[in-house]
Amino acid sequence: MRPGKMIRQVLKSIFKKPVTVMYPYEKLEMPDKFRGKLKYYPERCIGCRLCIKDCPTGAIDIKKVGENQFEALIDLGRCIYCAQCVDSCPKKALEATKDVELAQLDESKLKIIFHAKPYKPADK
Ligand code: SF4
Ligand code: SF4
Repeated sequence: MRPGKMIRQVLKSIFKKPVTVMYPYEKLEMPDKFRGKLKYYPERCIGCRLCIKDCPTGAIDIKKVGENQFEALIDLGRCIYCAQCVDSCPKKALEATKDVELAQLDESKLKIIFHAKPYKPADK
């Protein structure tokens, strides 16, 4: 690279706003359709188990705990945040949120249980 061009690039970089932020003091808003921590709506679940069948890592389990009542166990340590389960669910009972702050020192805290609620169809 010619010295003149190099100096121009260095000067440009000095006055440019950095693309990085001072995390965790500053946080970025994740874009729409970001695939972060999963959320489960037990009141919409019909227990069809399609999410389990389509999950490539075995990170999700659904248990029947009563008449039309289901609860989910999601292992955030195994999940690869592909959102295949969200796409596969016919009842919109799973959702990928924008939550990315999942680091834990205790591995057992990555296993999340969403407890059952009476069935209620999802809003259209
Ligand atoms: S996001 Fe992907 S890896 Fe995670 S539970 Fe759903 S299907 Fe499995
Ligand atoms: S979360 Fe959705 S795909 Fe999974 S069992 Fe419930 S209704 Fe079926």
